[in-house]
Amino acid sequence: EQMQEPASCEERIFVSVRLRPLSEKEIARHDISDWECINDNTIIYRNSLSVSERSMYPTAYTFDRVFSSDCANQQVYEAGAKEVALSVVSGINSSVFAYGQTSSGKTYTMTGITEYAMTDIYDYIQRHKEREFILKFSAMEIYNESVRDLLSADSTPLRLLDDPERGTVVEKLTEETLRDWNHFKELLSVCEAQRQIGETSLNETSSRSHQILRVTIESSTREFLGNGKPSTLAATVNFVDLAGSERASQTLSAGARLKEGCHINRSLLTLGTVIRKLSKGRNGHIPFRDSKLTRILQSSLGGNARTAIICTLSPARTHVEQSRNTLLFASCAK
Ligand code: ADP
Ligand code: MG
Repeated sequence: EQMQEPASCEERIFVSVRLRPLSEKEIARHDISDWECINDNTIIYRNSLSVSERSMYPTAYTFDRVFSSDCANQQVYEAGAKEVALSVVSGINSSVFAYGQTSSGKTYTMTGITEYAMTDIYDYIQRHKEREFILKFSAMEIYNESVRDLLSADSTPLRLLDDPERGTVVEKLTEETLRDWNHFKELLSVCEAQRQIGETSLNETSSRSHQILRVTIESSTREFLGNGKPSTLAATVNFVDLAGSERASQTLSAGARLKEGCHINRSLLTLGTVIRKLSKGRNGHIPFRDSKLTRILQSSLGGNARTAIICTLSPARTHVEQSRNTLLFASCAK
């Protein structure tokens, strides 16, 4: 069997789709699964299509990788994100995204991937004693085109600044130097607590906001008998748990809900446009600046950066429209 080429060539986006199992609630209401992964690359719609649907929707979709509902987080990480995430130790920026409708498994997937990636990064550091590593961690949430620090109790929106050397910088974003794995886990709980406070006070839910966890790794060779300068590398990996993709298509009614809808729309739609353009080669204008999300991630999306997207899918028949939207997004990204 031919091996799929991992996201090794520059500017290619590694796109995978993950089907979650039916939940107990879905089983209880006699919902059924319409989707099946028939091999490592193909997912099919099993239910028969009506004549009018047949002209609109394919029955088989092919990606770099598909993960059936019995795949564990470790497998999704190994085959769908590892190579991209670990490029950070070689000085290459990267981003790993989870895209999908609310309740399709984005947070479940990203939580697993982030932990496995950090385990591998610490393992790599252990095995490369010839270099000295500094890890920095920061976390933010984008809600209504407003950026909030998830490591700070201060919920004042953060500004984005254009730095001539570093590109877009999130002003005053907390950056913690990681002492070890336990420190990383502690900071994750701080983020989770901040996120929950935000949900209560702003009446927001995680389905409406984008969360970015970012780890910057700097390393240099330990000086060898005073010979020459140490060679240094620095790069950032972003773990991005996107707002529910139903927000990109839903039309909301009046007032604040409308405003919110437009903003979320803008970030997700801009991300879609940016990713589509990057996947087609870098000709022409790429509208990174059209949303906060893409501005913040610009240096980890274009150029030499590596990108992996895991599109999460609910198997339930009641979610078939959203699942098709997700597969359409995934098809455009590859
Ligand atoms: P989202 O972040 O997209 O809204 P979640 O990650 O919160 O969705 O998943 C919704 C529910 O489904 C959670 O209870 C989660 O534990 C469960 N779930 C998601 N994906 C899987 C999976 N692959 N295997 C088992 N349970 C899953
Ligand atoms: Mg979630």
